[in-house]
Amino acid sequence: MENRLSEFRRRRLPDQDKLARISRELEGAAAEEILDWAADTYGYGLTMSASFGGAEGMVLLDMLWRRGRYARVFTLDTGFLFRETVKFREEVVERYGMDIEVVRPGLSVVDQARQFGDELYNKNPDLCCYIRKVEPQRRALDGYDAWIAGIRRGQTAQRANTPIAGWEDDFDVAKIAPLARWTTEQVQDYVREHDVPTNPLREQGYKSIGCEPCTRKVAEGEDTRAGRWSGQEKTECGLHSRSTWLTRIPAEKSHLLKLEEDEK
Ligand code: SF4
Repeated sequence: MENRLSEFRRRRLPDQDKLARISRELEGAAAEEILDWAADTYGYGLTMSASFGGAEGMVLLDMLWRRGRYARVFTLDTGFLFRETVKFREEVVERYGMDIEVVRPGLSVVDQARQFGDELYNKNPDLCCYIRKVEPQRRALDGYDAWIAGIRRGQTAQRANTPIAGWEDDFDVAKIAPLARWTTEQVQDYVREHDVPTNPLREQGYKSIGCEPCTRKVAEGEDTRAGRWSGQEKTECGLHSRSTWLTRIPAEKSHLLKLEEDEK
Protein backbone atom coordinates (compact mmCIF):
# COMPACT_ATOMS: atom_id res chain seq x y z
CA MET A 1 0.00 0.00 0.00
CA GLU A 2 2.79 2.38 0.97
CA ASN A 3 4.58 1.63 -2.31
CA ARG A 4 1.43 2.34 -4.31
CA LEU A 5 0.96 5.61 -2.48
CA SER A 6 4.52 6.71 -3.17
CA GLU A 7 4.16 5.66 -6.84
CA PHE A 8 1.02 7.76 -7.06
CA ARG A 9 2.80 10.72 -5.46
CA ARG A 10 5.75 10.40 -7.83
CA ARG A 11 3.53 10.34 -10.88
CA ARG A 12 2.40 13.85 -9.97
CA LEU A 13 5.98 15.14 -9.66
CA PRO A 14 8.15 16.33 -12.57
CA ASP A 15 9.61 13.42 -14.53
CA GLN A 16 13.16 13.51 -15.90
CA ASP A 17 12.23 15.35 -19.11
CA LYS A 18 10.22 17.93 -17.24
CA LEU A 19 13.03 18.36 -14.73
CA ALA A 20 15.47 19.07 -17.55
CA ARG A 21 13.10 21.72 -18.92
CA ILE A 22 12.58 23.28 -15.51
CA SER A 23 16.32 23.25 -14.91
CA ARG A 24 16.88 25.31 -18.06
CA GLU A 25 14.16 27.74 -17.02
CA LEU A 26 15.72 28.13 -13.56
CA GLU A 27 19.19 28.92 -14.96
CA GLY A 28 18.57 32.65 -14.52
CA ALA A 29 16.74 32.37 -11.19
CA ALA A 30 18.12 33.43 -7.81
CA ALA A 31 19.03 30.64 -5.41
CA GLU A 32 16.16 31.71 -3.17
CA GLU A 33 13.66 31.31 -6.02
CA ILE A 34 15.02 27.84 -6.74
CA LEU A 35 14.56 26.90 -3.08
CA ASP A 36 11.00 28.23 -3.19
CA TRP A 37 10.25 26.20 -6.33
CA ALA A 38 11.66 23.05 -4.68
CA ALA A 39 9.66 23.58 -1.48
CA ASP A 40 6.43 24.27 -3.41
CA THR A 41 6.93 21.29 -5.71
CA TYR A 42 8.10 18.61 -3.28
CA GLY A 43 6.68 19.66 0.11
CA TYR A 44 7.42 17.05 2.77
CA GLY A 45 9.22 14.96 0.14
CA LEU A 46 12.05 17.51 0.11
CA THR A 47 15.28 16.94 2.00
CA MET A 48 18.56 18.81 2.19
CA SER A 49 22.05 17.65 3.12
CA ALA A 50 24.57 19.79 4.98
CA SER A 51 28.12 18.75 5.81
CA PHE A 52 28.96 21.63 8.20
CA GLY A 53 32.35 21.71 6.49
CA GLY A 54 31.72 23.98 3.52
CA ALA A 55 30.10 27.41 3.50
CA GLU A 56 27.66 26.43 0.73
CA GLY A 57 25.56 24.19 3.00
CA MET A 58 25.44 26.98 5.56
CA VAL A 59 24.25 29.47 2.93
CA LEU A 60 21.41 27.13 1.97
CA LEU A 61 20.47 26.48 5.60
CA ASP A 62 20.39 30.22 6.21
CA MET A 63 18.21 30.84 3.13
CA LEU A 64 15.79 28.11 4.12
CA TRP A 65 15.52 29.55 7.62
CA ARG A 66 15.14 33.17 6.49
CA ARG A 67 12.39 32.26 4.06
CA GLY A 68 10.61 30.03 6.56
CA ARG A 69 10.59 27.17 4.05
CA TYR A 70 10.57 23.53 5.08
CA ALA A 71 12.95 20.77 4.07
CA ARG A 72 14.05 17.91 6.27
CA VAL A 73 17.76 18.55 6.87
CA PHE A 74 20.25 15.75 7.44
CA THR A 75 23.98 15.43 7.85
CA LEU A 76 26.31 12.45 7.57
CA ASP A 77 28.56 11.77 10.53
CA THR A 78 31.25 9.39 9.28
CA GLY A 79 32.85 8.96 12.70
CA PHE A 80 35.98 10.59 11.27
CA LEU A 81 34.85 14.21 11.41
CA PHE A 82 36.96 16.90 13.08
CA ARG A 83 35.96 17.58 16.68
CA GLU A 84 35.52 21.21 15.63
CA THR A 85 32.98 20.23 12.95
CA VAL A 86 30.86 18.27 15.40
CA LYS A 87 30.91 21.15 17.89
CA PHE A 88 30.10 23.64 15.14
CA ARG A 89 27.14 21.48 14.04
CA GLU A 90 25.76 21.60 17.59
CA GLU A 91 26.12 25.40 17.69
CA VAL A 92 24.30 25.75 14.36
CA VAL A 93 21.41 23.60 15.57
CA GLU A 94 21.08 25.91 18.55
CA ARG A 95 21.37 29.13 16.55
CA TYR A 96 18.78 28.23 13.91
CA GLY A 97 16.58 26.11 16.16
CA MET A 98 16.33 23.50 13.40
CA ASP A 99 15.98 19.76 13.71
CA ILE A 100 18.93 18.26 11.90
CA GLU A 101 19.04 14.51 11.53
CA VAL A 102 22.47 12.99 12.05
CA VAL A 103 22.90 9.87 9.88
CA ARG A 104 25.68 7.42 10.72
CA PRO A 105 27.22 4.45 8.88
CA GLY A 106 25.95 0.96 9.60
CA LEU A 107 29.49 -0.07 10.50
CA SER A 108 31.21 1.58 13.49
CA VAL A 109 34.78 2.82 13.11
CA VAL A 110 35.95 -0.09 15.27
CA ASP A 111 33.99 -2.69 13.27
CA GLN A 112 35.28 -1.25 10.03
CA ALA A 113 38.86 -1.65 11.26
CA ARG A 114 38.07 -5.20 12.37
CA GLN A 115 36.60 -6.08 8.98
CA PHE A 116 38.93 -4.19 6.63
CA GLY A 117 41.99 -3.37 8.74
CA ASP A 118 43.16 -0.04 10.19
CA GLU A 119 43.23 3.15 8.14
CA LEU A 120 41.02 1.98 5.30
CA TYR A 121 40.96 5.67 4.28
CA ASN A 122 44.62 5.32 3.28
CA LYS A 123 44.41 1.85 1.76
CA ASN A 124 41.14 2.22 -0.12
CA PRO A 125 39.48 5.61 0.42
CA ASP A 126 36.78 4.84 -2.18
CA LEU A 127 35.63 1.87 -0.16
CA CYS A 128 35.85 3.85 3.08
CA CYS A 129 33.74 6.64 1.52
CA TYR A 130 31.27 4.09 0.24
CA ILE A 131 30.78 2.57 3.68
CA ARG A 132 30.79 5.82 5.65
CA LYS A 133 29.08 8.18 3.20
CA VAL A 134 27.37 6.62 0.18
CA GLU A 135 25.51 3.85 1.97
CA PRO A 136 24.29 6.09 4.84
CA GLN A 137 23.26 8.71 2.30
CA ARG A 138 21.20 6.10 0.45
CA ARG A 139 19.36 5.37 3.69
CA ALA A 140 18.96 9.09 4.40
CA LEU A 141 17.33 9.71 1.00
CA ASP A 142 15.10 6.67 1.06
CA GLY A 143 11.45 7.75 0.91
CA TYR A 144 12.23 11.31 -0.23
CA ASP A 145 11.47 12.72 -3.67
CA ALA A 146 14.05 15.48 -3.94
CA TRP A 147 17.42 16.28 -2.43
CA ILE A 148 18.93 19.77 -2.17
CA ALA A 149 22.73 19.79 -2.27
CA GLY A 150 25.16 22.71 -1.91
CA ILE A 151 27.39 21.79 -4.85
CA ARG A 152 28.70 24.33 -7.36
CA ARG A 153 29.94 23.90 -10.93
CA GLY A 154 33.22 25.61 -10.18
CA GLN A 155 34.22 23.20 -7.39
CA THR A 156 35.55 20.23 -9.37
CA ALA A 157 35.71 19.04 -12.97
CA GLN A 158 33.04 16.40 -12.20
CA ARG A 159 30.66 19.12 -11.03
CA ALA A 160 31.13 21.40 -14.05
CA ASN A 161 27.86 20.33 -15.70
CA THR A 162 25.71 20.20 -12.58
CA PRO A 163 22.13 21.07 -13.57
CA ILE A 164 20.00 23.27 -11.33
CA ALA A 165 17.54 20.39 -11.19
CA GLY A 166 18.07 16.87 -12.47
CA TRP A 167 17.51 13.23 -11.73
CA GLU A 168 19.99 11.33 -9.57
CA ASP A 169 19.84 7.69 -10.61
CA ASP A 170 22.13 6.46 -7.85
CA PHE A 171 19.81 7.63 -5.12
CA ASP A 172 16.54 7.60 -7.05
CA VAL A 173 15.64 11.21 -6.28
CA ALA A 174 15.50 14.57 -8.00
CA LYS A 175 18.60 16.55 -7.14
CA ILE A 176 18.41 20.32 -6.79
CA ALA A 177 21.52 22.51 -6.75
CA PRO A 178 20.41 26.11 -6.08
CA LEU A 179 24.04 27.30 -5.92
CA ALA A 180 25.20 25.50 -9.08
CA ARG A 181 26.01 28.77 -10.87
CA TRP A 182 27.51 30.54 -7.85
CA THR A 183 31.17 31.51 -7.61
CA THR A 184 33.34 31.31 -4.49
CA GLU A 185 33.03 35.10 -4.19
CA GLN A 186 29.22 34.97 -4.24
CA VAL A 187 29.30 32.43 -1.41
CA GLN A 188 31.68 34.62 0.59
CA ASP A 189 29.54 37.71 -0.04
CA TYR A 190 26.39 35.95 1.16
CA VAL A 191 28.17 34.73 4.30
CA ARG A 192 29.42 38.24 5.07
CA GLU A 193 26.17 40.05 4.29
CA HIS A 194 23.98 37.68 6.29
CA ASP A 195 26.43 36.94 9.09
CA VAL A 196 26.26 33.21 8.40
CA PRO A 197 28.32 31.06 10.78
CA THR A 198 30.99 28.91 9.12
CA ASN A 199 33.21 26.10 10.34
CA PRO A 200 35.98 27.65 12.49
CA LEU A 201 38.60 25.46 10.79
CA ARG A 202 38.24 27.71 7.73
CA GLU A 203 40.03 30.44 9.68
CA GLN A 204 42.91 28.04 10.26
CA GLY A 205 43.58 27.44 6.55
CA TYR A 206 41.20 24.57 5.80
CA LYS A 207 39.21 25.66 2.76
CA SER A 208 37.22 22.50 2.09
CA ILE A 209 36.54 20.37 5.12
CA GLY A 210 35.64 16.70 5.20
CA CYS A 211 36.90 13.87 7.40
CA GLU A 212 39.98 14.60 9.49
CA PRO A 213 42.25 11.86 8.01
CA CYS A 214 41.53 13.05 4.45
CA THR A 215 41.70 16.82 4.86
CA ARG A 216 44.70 19.13 5.09
CA LYS A 217 45.13 22.88 5.12
CA VAL A 218 45.68 24.55 1.75
CA ALA A 219 48.37 27.12 1.02
CA GLU A 220 47.66 30.58 -0.39
CA GLY A 221 46.93 30.27 -4.13
CA GLU A 222 46.19 26.53 -3.98
CA ASP A 223 42.84 25.23 -5.19
CA THR A 224 40.31 25.26 -2.35
CA ARG A 225 39.77 21.49 -2.66
CA ALA A 226 43.48 20.65 -2.92
CA GLY A 227 43.41 19.64 0.74
CA ARG A 228 40.92 16.81 0.17
CA TRP A 229 42.50 13.35 -0.32
CA SER A 230 45.73 15.21 -0.94
CA GLY A 231 48.31 13.21 -2.90
CA GLN A 232 45.66 10.79 -4.18
CA GLU A 233 43.85 10.63 -7.49
CA LYS A 234 40.55 10.86 -5.63
CA THR A 235 38.65 14.18 -5.74
CA GLU A 236 35.09 13.12 -4.89
CA CYS A 237 33.64 11.08 -2.06
CA GLY A 238 31.00 9.46 -4.26
CA LEU A 239 27.94 11.35 -3.03
CA HIS A 240 27.92 13.45 -6.19
CA SER A 241 29.76 11.17 -8.60
CA ARG A 242 28.98 7.48 -8.86
CA SER A 243 32.17 6.75 -10.85
CA THR A 244 34.05 7.04 -7.58
CA TRP A 245 32.61 3.91 -6.09
CA LEU A 246 31.22 2.04 -9.07
CA THR A 247 34.31 1.91 -11.24
CA ARG A 248 37.10 2.32 -8.76
CA ILE A 249 36.35 -0.38 -6.23
CA PRO A 250 35.27 -3.43 -8.23
CA ALA A 251 37.56 -5.76 -6.28
CA GLU A 252 35.63 -4.99 -3.12
CA LYS A 253 32.21 -5.50 -4.65
CA SER A 254 31.60 -8.68 -2.69
CA HIS A 255 32.27 -6.89 0.61
CA LEU A 256 29.82 -4.16 -0.37
CA LEU A 257 27.12 -6.63 -1.23
CA LYS A 258 27.71 -8.40 2.05
CA LEU A 259 27.47 -5.11 3.89
CA GLU A 260 24.12 -4.32 2.26
CA GLU A 261 22.76 -7.78 3.01
CA ASP A 262 23.79 -7.46 6.67
CA GLU A 263 21.72 -4.31 6.96
CA LYS A 264 18.52 -5.79 5.60
S1 SF4 B 1 36.69 11.14 3.51
FE1 SF4 B 1 38.31 9.71 4.20
S2 SF4 B 1 37.75 9.05 6.29
FE2 SF4 B 1 35.97 10.04 5.36
S3 SF4 B 1 34.77 8.39 4.56
FE3 SF4 B 1 36.06 9.10 2.86
S4 SF4 B 1 37.98 7.93 2.96
FE4 SF4 B 1 36.85 7.59 4.89
